[in-house]
Amino acid sequence: MTGAVKRAFKFRFYPTDAQAAQLSRTFGCVRLVYNMALQARTEAWTLRRERINYNATSALLTAWKKTDDLAFLNEVSSVPLQQALRHLQTAFTNFWAKRAKYPRFKSRKRSRRSAEYTTSAFRWRDGTLTLAKMTEPLDVVWSRPLPQGCTPSTVTVSQDPAGRWFVSLLCDDTITPTPACGAVGIDAGLDSLLTLSTGEKIANPRHERADSKRLARAQRDLARKQKGSANRAKARIKLARIHARITDRRHDHLHKLTTRLVRETQTIVIEDLAVRNMVKNHRLARAISDAAWRQLRTMLEYKTAWHGRTLIAVDRWFPSTRLCSTCGALAQPMPLGVREWTCPCGAVHDRDVNAARNILAAGLAVTACGDDVRPQRGTSRTGQSSARQEHPRATKGIPVL
Ligand SMILES: [Zn+2]
Repeated sequence: MTGAVKRAFKFRFYPTDAQAAQLSRTFGCVRLVYNMALQARTEAWTLRRERINYNATSALLTAWKKTDDLAFLNEVSSVPLQQALRHLQTAFTNFWAKRAKYPRFKSRKRSRRSAEYTTSAFRWRDGTLTLAKMTEPLDVVWSRPLPQGCTPSTVTVSQDPAGRWFVSLLCDDTITPTPACGAVGIDAGLDSLLTLSTGEKIANPRHERADSKRLARAQRDLARKQKGSANRAKARIKLARIHARITDRRHDHLHKLTTRLVRETQTIVIEDLAVRNMVKNHRLARAISDAAWRQLRTMLEYKTAWHGRTLIAVDRWFPSTRLCSTCGALAQPMPLGVREWTCPCGAVHDRDVNAARNILAAGLAVTACGDDVRPQRGTSRTGQSSARQEHPRATKGIPVL
């Protein structure tokens, strides 16, 4: 349950012009190899009903590098290209296990620009990091210390849409378990980020409202610029910068919060909001809060596993808002604007606190019944489905701290 864990540490770095050019080329080659291998696998299956595995795509890569047209693949480190094929393999494994949709091509504009290096493709010496095909070490801003004696096993270099460079180091770390007791239910809201069953309300990060306004304005500006123009490119970078600032602050906020919750509490109950339905909502505030909710869940998944806590997800169709947490009576549906309501039993409820209490009760019912449902949904006696997660999916989130 606890002890040795893999943990990623992410830092900014400032490449030299030569390094930036080399990395950009690597990102391009990674994308190309991924797309070509995906195409080969798709064709083999649709035309010949043949399944191509990782080894076969690896052999294809070797052949591609020998052709004149693709000889430029030799100019970048071969490891990130191999890793791209491994990532594609994982995407197919997830697809076959029905955990994900069919893999999609990586797009030049929309896909994450990143490259993954394993131990044979970087040198880690005296706290400096040098990547394959580079002479100088990366100029990394070590904003926090790595764990004592940490040697990274994988290094991932990426560039975000705002143009910032990051390096993420995957290290072995140990966690010393500490005892905790009690249980807490968490409700996600729009007004306050989260409400706990204890009555505590956790606000959105400071400045977020102002930043959201700026974001909306930047989006309008971008929409007005002519396609392909230099001004449009500028507007896009500006938009990406504001986006990056909002998500960074959120990330920070959620890390502090989840660490505190996991330290203090043994059992944490959340609502199992279906991610796929949420993304369809295009309203800005909603989209941001949905993203935060997914992050919160991922963080809780690995942090509860690290610390030997229990995370329970109860079904979203459970009428958590209008069920009286005191007497169990079901009130009439109420509009979103209603923040407080009174039950015929006399209890006065804050809408969100009441919801959080109901979520907690539903989660505890799951543990009491010994209803050990796997992450896919099951239906319990009360008609609400629930999922108890003590071992979250290993594929999800090598955590970034
Ligand atoms: Zn009541």
